[in-house]
Amino acid sequence: MISVIPINTIKSFVYRNEKHDNLCFLNFAGNKANDMSLKITGKLPSGKDLERISQSPNYKEGAFQNLSPTPMKAEGISYWKMIREFFKKHPDTTPPGKLPFVKTNLEKLYSSQPVIVWFGHSSYFIYIENKKFLIDPVFSGNAAPFSFMVKSFPGSNEYKANDIPAIDYLILTHDHYDHLDFKTIRELKNKVKRIYCSLGISSHLKYWGIDENKIIEMDWWDTQLLEENIKLTAAPARHFSGRGIKRGQTLWSSFILKTARHNLYLGGDSGYDSHFKEIGNKYGPFDIAILEAGQYNKMWPLIHMMPEEAVQAAVDLKAKALLPVHWGKFKLSMHPWNEPVKRVLEKAKTLNLRVQTPRIGEPFTFNTDFSGSDWWENIE
Ligand SMILES: [Zn+2]
Ligand SMILES: [Zn+2]
Repeated sequence: MISVIPINTIKSFVYRNEKHDNLCFLNFAGNKANDMSLKITGKLPSGKDLERISQSPNYKEGAFQNLSPTPMKAEGISYWKMIREFFKKHPDTTPPGKLPFVKTNLEKLYSSQPVIVWFGHSSYFIYIENKKFLIDPVFSGNAAPFSFMVKSFPGSNEYKANDIPAIDYLILTHDHYDHLDFKTIRELKNKVKRIYCSLGISSHLKYWGIDENKIIEMDWWDTQLLEENIKLTAAPARHFSGRGIKRGQTLWSSFILKTARHNLYLGGDSGYDSHFKEIGNKYGPFDIAILEAGQYNKMWPLIHMMPEEAVQAAVDLKAKALLPVHWGKFKLSMHPWNEPVKRVLEKAKTLNLRVQTPRIGEPFTFNTDFSGSDWWENIE
């Protein structure tokens, strides 16, 4: 959320590039941004693409809508207050030293059980049924249009596009900078066989040179058969989208990845709402739910979850385990950097839910036991 506010409102001046009907940025010095910066903001759906996506029942009055009314900020809070608060000093928002990480050779990874590798924040790799999935990869080291903004914590960006093997399926939940990274997409372009994404995102991807035949857009509740034994279903999330100041022009989703033997919930970004129960009833139970549990704040309570809500969401989904993500790499809110995982563990104890807490890059299966490895403590 906050990635959109200060980036677009404070740190950059925005102008409309008529040619691309797109929002572009001028830098601090007032120089016209270079071509890279122009590209990075992407391209909103237009022409036939816009015609197609506007048929979606989730597209109303010129933008995609959440299932429930979802104001960006709490009642009585102004954007100026949010911005003022954001730039105040808050304790421990970044780690005091380099984060530990495990460098895994993903090329050689093989397992009869599904394996997940978390890269920090919301980027992760899934090896399942001999297929390789990559979700929301951000390896450029920052989650913003300019490289001096929203930098990754030391130790959290040790995986680069080069370390990623050929990917069967790339899944993109929504177009925010901390999930859809121009540089990473460009670098992975030839390694990825197929891309499954939320409605509208293909406009960015095509603009960035991705072959449109590789891209399959999905609306909420669409199901695609990926392999004889693997199905992917897009489902609602409570959030928003946008890389410029215009919001809601592309859809935001969660995904259900179901094989003959396993069932995974890939949460994307979402605030808490009744959709988790609905998805749990329709598609649960899940072996694991991968849910955002960081970058929350009381000023924007509906578009991101508090850690306790993430635990409740996993229970609503009927998940046997939770992997809390959206933390450990970028500071997009004001809470201490490791507070999300601590609060998740605390709440999970009371609801008797298993929480998976791998180090960045550490492969794990559904049975891996992480008790006693509180790697987020005592960082020096
Ligand atoms: Zn987001
Ligand atoms: Zn996010």
